[in-house]
Amino acid sequence: MSAAGSLVTQVVIANRILAREEVVDAYGHVSVRHAERPDRFLLAVSKAPELIEPQDILEFDLEARPLARDPRPLYLERFIHAAIYEARPDVMAVVHAHAEDVLPFGITKAPLRPVIHSGAFIGAHVPVWDIADRFGDRTNLLVTDMDQARDLARTLAKNNVALMRGHGFAAGARSLIDVVRMSVYLPRNARVQHKAMQLGEPKPLSQGEIESRLSGYRPDSPETQRAWRYWATRAGCASLLDD
Ligand SMILES: [Zn+2]
Repeated sequence: MSAAGSLVTQVVIANRILAREEVVDAYGHVSVRHAERPDRFLLAVSKAPELIEPQDILEFDLEARPLARDPRPLYLERFIHAAIYEARPDVMAVVHAHAEDVLPFGITKAPLRPVIHSGAFIGAHVPVWDIADRFGDRTNLLVTDMDQARDLARTLAKNNVALMRGHGFAAGARSLIDVVRMSVYLPRNARVQHKAMQLGEPKPLSQGEIESRLSGYRPDSPETQRAWRYWATRAGCASLLDD
């Protein structure tokens, strides 16, 4: 299979994993930057991630316009992906989701922090983007154009994740495996932090611990591949792994 074909398969697997791990439901999406054309990315048409097949994946430019004419509806919030790829040349994969466990941290002053070792990937600082700050109270909270998406990307800045007030999160990473892994552990980290806050003041990971965790991490390591294979198998798409 060609590199582009393989990437399509990988993004299908990523969709199925995020659905199985309940990071996304009928809504939410994951994309990957094109391997040879950094000004393009691969994202599905408007369909629930659990149901996505290779033929559902389209190429988009960095204004979130599909490269080929296609009659199928597109995700309303595809602009999130375009703006993050535009602002962050280091980001190779993006997730946008509405995972419930992260939402309390977007509507209160309690900052989401990495509190478990697998949460280190979210980084020391998780900014909160409030669409109302710049676009007022007449939006439906969805990111439906490049202007809104670029504002979100500015809040994300150099961080790995931004929470979106009353809505969800956007995450960017240097590979599909990285962004899936971070998106799976982000709600888990949020759950643990929330439970801990009921008991007392949680102790987050220190900057040194976060850096140590990140410096020892490689996307192609056996440990990381083990997780990808496990999640793909749970999601019922183990047969796609060797495509
Ligand atoms: Zn959304």
